[in-house]
Amino acid sequence: MSEPSPRQYAYVGPEDIRIAAITNPPGSSIHSSHELSAWLAANASDREPNDTLVATFVITCDGTLKLAHRRSEHVACASGGPVLSAGEITFSSNTTASSVEVVELTNQSTGFCPEPESWSSVAAALDRIAIARPDDFTTKVIFRRCPKCNERNIVKDEWFVCDLCDAELPKEWNFSS
Ligand SMILES: [Zn+2]
Repeated sequence: MSEPSPRQYAYVGPEDIRIAAITNPPGSSIHSSHELSAWLAANASDREPNDTLVATFVITCDGTLKLAHRRSEHVACASGGPVLSAGEITFSSNTTASSVEVVELTNQSTGFCPEPESWSSVAAALDRIAIARPDDFTTKVIFRRCPKCNERNIVKDEWFVCDLCDAELPKEWNFSS
């Protein structure tokens, strides 16, 4: 039995951010632990006081992990998209890829609003570069678009109500065009 194709997430954020992001460099493609080592070394100055390193990530539609500085827009990291997943990734304090681990992962990308179910694409990309990782997103974000005012919402505590206009938000993910 073949796996169903994973959902592709198109950019759903503001057009001005997309246009500004186009001129930014894309994320670095990471196909191996060697490439990860090089990226971690090049970005060592971004380490937190506790020595972890937080980055923006996307998974491109061919399944490749791309990393960028944590303040990068996901749409820039993904060269516009679409993506299979997007969010923030935190690496442990060890700087060589042979000992580094992924300690936190979220699907927090307001540009692509991916579902927590996009995890399988993240896991596959990380397993390809053979890095230790959690079994799922450590923080899952539930995104919904308001059917009334079009605002992108993050649903917290099962509260499916628009922050902006108080309209009810659908229980199902609703960013597909
Ligand atoms: Zn609304």
